[in-house]
Amino acid sequence: MQVFDPQTIPVPAGHFIGGRLVTDAGRIPVRRPSDNRVHAELPLADAATVDAAVQDAWRALRTSDWARRAPRERARVLRRWADLIEADVRGLAPLEAVCSTRPVRDAGAGDVPFTAEGLRFFAEYADKLGGDVAATRPDHLGMVVAEPYGVVGAITPWNFPLVMVSWKVGAALAAGNAVVLKPSELTPFSAVRLAELAIEAGVPPGMFNVVQGDGQTTGDALTRHPLVAKMTFTGSTRTGASIMAACAVHGPKPVTLELGGKSAQLVFDDAPDLDRLAGIIAGAITGNAGQVCVAGSRLIVQRGVAEALVERIVARFAALRPGATWDDATTLAPIISAGQASRILDIVERSRQTGAELRCGGGLFDGGPGGAYFQPTLISGVAADNAAVQEEIFGPVLTVQTFGDEEEGLELAGHANYGLAAGVHTADIGRALRAMRGISAGTVWINRYGRSADFVIPTGGYHQSGIGKDLGRQAVEANLRFKSVLIDFSEPR
Ligand code: NDP
Repeated sequence: MQVFDPQTIPVPAGHFIGGRLVTDAGRIPVRRPSDNRVHAELPLADAATVDAAVQDAWRALRTSDWARRAPRERARVLRRWADLIEADVRGLAPLEAVCSTRPVRDAGAGDVPFTAEGLRFFAEYADKLGGDVAATRPDHLGMVVAEPYGVVGAITPWNFPLVMVSWKVGAALAAGNAVVLKPSELTPFSAVRLAELAIEAGVPPGMFNVVQGDGQTTGDALTRHPLVAKMTFTGSTRTGASIMAACAVHGPKPVTLELGGKSAQLVFDDAPDLDRLAGIIAGAITGNAGQVCVAGSRLIVQRGVAEALVERIVARFAALRPGATWDDATTLAPIISAGQASRILDIVERSRQTGAELRCGGGLFDGGPGGAYFQPTLISGVAADNAAVQEEIFGPVLTVQTFGDEEEGLELAGHANYGLAAGVHTADIGRALRAMRGISAGTVWINRYGRSADFVIPTGGYHQSGIGKDLGRQAVEANLRFKSVLIDFSEPR
């Protein structure tokens, strides 16, 4: 059933600076992934507009009392913001769904409450990280005082637009910083609505500004800006590296980077309940059509259970229903853009040409409302150097590799470049913990896959999957710098 008519969804197509929507001539067409139609035109912030947004944030830091407020007062405002977000679920869910890949049902039941609860988590940290008292000689007092950086620049991707804002902006504001955010130009609108609600909640104007535009112009100007003291980014490894390089030259300034992944699901033959497991594994690669940084894209399965598990996964794939994000029967999301769909096709094709066997899928669904819908795809018979095993696909494509013993399984679970996440499925706790130690990744889930609402568990990668953490205490700490103080109160000699 169609939940909303996409033509009737108004969008705030502008920047948000100084507590108000700033519109300008449209420069960037924003398409709806579901039907590939242009929904609105977005202005593009050039260096001058980015400068205005950053200067405004800098001014707000000095003239508003945000950084000097009692931390619990900042926390109260952030909690109020979270309440307003939850109360606006009927507006936010379609706004999120219309130009993104997030089905409205998932956006309403998942993304909106997840966004609000994430902000509450960060609010609770506002008065928890003050610093340390150092062990100095007794007639001295040494302190390490936590302070905000000032203006933090944030660049977020298109796959979970709302949730990403709460992770990046929530952590930065709770620590007392101002934030200038550039959302992906593919999914730019819900961030503006969040900024409006932040003002309503009592966040001072300028403390959270949004600039719209592409990476090369707007993102780059934000990264280089001399008043931006720290950058936080989620997206591809390649873009993360160029942001880090720019931060080195135009700072140096610290970066938090949450980047690509090629995460393994390691299944031993004693893993209980293959039906349930098939559901977990299929869900981990088809949720948001695989457009998830921690998608479980490589199944590494012990030979004894491989065929039985693969059959069950293929059956799960077949039950998925592609459809527009405004249809509540949709269980398989569209691909964000035609370009991204052809990138997925290209990798699958190269994988086939080098000997892989397609067990199901492999191409786009025919028909539909006009967007690109990729068939859930399972590829077996792949060598470790196969393109589908090596490259982040960011689509519903699962590769299968089999192994004999634990050592071989662990060897296959590692990846030459990425180390974002992994799943381990076994009934043997010793084996699970050996695998946890053996897998070089920022997160290891045991007998489950995917993040939970336990925001206290940080997320972030090893190797080319990133630097630093989102969520957890670590995310708040990453938005703080530490001033060392040494007080000498010895008797004058
Ligand atoms: P990118 O990493 O290229 O882009 C993410 C964000 O960074 C966008 O807002 C982008 O703007 C911006 N950006 C790009 N170049 C720069 C720059 N030089 N300076 C500052 N900002 C910049 O992701 P894509 O959307 O192009 O997707 C490509 C691949 O990235 C996917 O196939 C997937 O593998 C991976 N990806 C990973 C994500 C994750 O969650 N870790 C999320 C999204 C993508 P613009 O769009 O204008 O380039």
